[in-house]
Amino acid sequence: MNRRYLQLALPSPLRQNFDYLLPAKIDPPPVGARVRVPFGRQEQIGICLGLSTTTEVPEEKLRVASEALDEESVLPPSLFQLCQWAAGYYHHPLGEVFDTALPVLLRQGEPLTSPGELRWRLTRLGELYPLDGAIRRAPKQIEALLKLREHPDGLIPPLLASLGIERPILLALQKKGLAECITLTPAEPVKAPGGLLREPHHALSSEQRSALAAISTHSGQFRPFLLFGITGSGKTEIYLQAIAAALERGEQALVLVPEIGLAPQTVARFRARFQTEIAVLHSGRNERERLEAWRAARAGQAGIVIGTRSAVFTPLARPGLIIVDEEHDLSFKQQDGFRYHARDLAVRRAQLENVPVVLGSATPSLETLANARQGRYELLELKTRAAGASTPAFRLIDLRQQKLQEGFSDPLLQTIKATLARGEQVLVFINRRGFAPVLLCHDCGWQARCRRCDARPTLHRAPARLHCHHCGSESAPPVQCPSCGSTDLRPVGLGTERAEDFLTKRFPKVPLFRVDRDSTRRKEALTQLYHDIHGAGPALLVGTQMLAKGHHFPKVTLVAILDIDGGLFGADFRAPEHVAQLVMQVAGRAGRADKPGLVLLQTHQPEHQLLRELITAGYSAFADRVLEERQQLGLPPFGHLALIRAEAPDAAKPMAFLQGVASGVGNNLQLWGPVPAPMEKRAGRFRAHLLLQSERRAALHGALANLIPHIEGLPDARRVRWSVDVDPQDID
Ligand code: ADP
Ligand code: ZN
Ligand code: ZN
Repeated sequence: MNRRYLQLALPSPLRQNFDYLLPAKIDPPPVGARVRVPFGRQEQIGICLGLSTTTEVPEEKLRVASEALDEESVLPPSLFQLCQWAAGYYHHPLGEVFDTALPVLLRQGEPLTSPGELRWRLTRLGELYPLDGAIRRAPKQIEALLKLREHPDGLIPPLLASLGIERPILLALQKKGLAECITLTPAEPVKAPGGLLREPHHALSSEQRSALAAISTHSGQFRPFLLFGITGSGKTEIYLQAIAAALERGEQALVLVPEIGLAPQTVARFRARFQTEIAVLHSGRNERERLEAWRAARAGQAGIVIGTRSAVFTPLARPGLIIVDEEHDLSFKQQDGFRYHARDLAVRRAQLENVPVVLGSATPSLETLANARQGRYELLELKTRAAGASTPAFRLIDLRQQKLQEGFSDPLLQTIKATLARGEQVLVFINRRGFAPVLLCHDCGWQARCRRCDARPTLHRAPARLHCHHCGSESAPPVQCPSCGSTDLRPVGLGTERAEDFLTKRFPKVPLFRVDRDSTRRKEALTQLYHDIHGAGPALLVGTQMLAKGHHFPKVTLVAILDIDGGLFGADFRAPEHVAQLVMQVAGRAGRADKPGLVLLQTHQPEHQLLRELITAGYSAFADRVLEERQQLGLPPFGHLALIRAEAPDAAKPMAFLQGVASGVGNNLQLWGPVPAPMEKRAGRFRAHLLLQSERRAALHGALANLIPHIEGLPDARRVRWSVDVDPQDID
């Protein structure tokens, strides 16, 4: 008799499949089903990739699978393929890809479907099968057969157990083709009486109408769209109406939003519009909630699935439309472990599912914009703001020779004063939380440094502490300089807390709302802040990028960006793109209602070409210029990058290790490095980089495929922590 070998993907850093013996007592699981197996000294749950009659593992080394958990694949074929594709593209172990794709509780062995959904029932053959046939000498099977005949809709496992019908009996019937285990046919999205809509749609502008029409005419086909529209131009309204059309067709929609975009009001807006179940998946949910949302999506019961990055892996029974809102947002890229980009996977998924995918942004990533310029994505533009609001004007304030008070120039303070006097709100954007980024000894020049990182900890007050934002370590600020003993220690630079102090003193009668990670730590704090801001009259809003994203502040007519230079000159080639996106996003908060808005940018570089281009010609022109530069340098999206990172507690190891890696790279690639990372030491570990660049994606992937076995064979491969990052977003 042929032995049967199971091929499994297991969550392991090893880039290989694992073979196990399938004992006779276990029926061959279908591809995509979970199987429990012994692994090392423990048990693990793997995903079945197939069965084989041969194996390359010596027979005596093979272990025996313990249990098959599913009668069907946990993922629909399209998602299973997506995972396999992603493992190849990102050169990441398939088992870990599945581990990211599946809810934690499923990985721990929870049932695939909610109790009651999975049912055993008879096949046609089972219904008609003569009791004196082949099973006449198996009384338990006869008993089960009779019981199932009483229940043509099938029985759920707990009920079968309570009837004394055990799994092996059912499996025996299944083997003979008499019974089958089914997941109930995907439920129709729950439609309340009175139709799909809870509130009517807006009547669309002509721009919006043609965008919607383009999306809707491609239902049931793969087609990527870039919905490029300034903040407030009505992109979300288009999502809502495109989703409505999908729901009408009985399909489901998947909506991906950035981390920060999944504030309660986003979901509230969807709930206000639709009477369908909405499955919400994000990190604030507990594992049980995530599993239930996942199941509701998979069963087809939830019409809409909204989630952050990893929601791209949510199975849908009847996929109809995929939307990625704020597609340029960096939170779509996973920055550790399996370093995938959810936006890119969303496009790939749409292709596998044959559905349209809409990437929406006021400031598209240059990758997406280039795809649109080259005609790979259909460009849908919204150039005017919905509801007739005007777009803000930009003005630069030249900081050279200006006297600054806590980072504020005089012209800025005057404008703030005038705006408040008109009864309007002012948003002050500072991309740094805490009080001050540096603690300096005025006598000897000593600066506080993090012991575990090449970084300065930020000074916070209430409670006073030095907090390193890179490794999280905290300490009390010294009273005396550890170097010279002086007590003249001064905070240098500006964080949101310091701006709050200063503005409160300067405008004592005006309420000030600070919005950053520290002020919104409590659950619901952000919602409360938004609520208070909306209720307030003239007010100051001080905050980090939390203020820049997603939320609308109709009373804000002045936006001040205190330090634009900081970001423009970052080491990363993407720095200008990211700064421009941030500026436009913050600017989008101004002038929403009937009053025009003004955006003031303080800079030491008023002549800076790109900055001027951005504020005079707009994001699109800016982006085209940056794209030209990238093309000349062969940088993404024209060239392709992979970053190999290495880190170790030993200072010399990562560089030496990457030298070894570099020696295995073929000469058809450009190599940069190895070099120490811009922040060489972080959280007590030393870090180094090796950057691979190629004009051709295929060449890069071919080289990586050859390189990885070489890396795995290096003597230090297990002593140095290393990773491969394909299409890195942060070269840090
Ligand atoms: P975006 O997602 O591009 O920022 P929204 O869809 O949130 O824009 O629209 C901005 C505001 O304009 C919202 O308050 C929305 O309800 C409103 N709005 C959008 N489209 C229309 C329309 N066609 N008619 C009237 N109001 C609209
Ligand atoms: Zn000193
Ligand atoms: Zn640190």
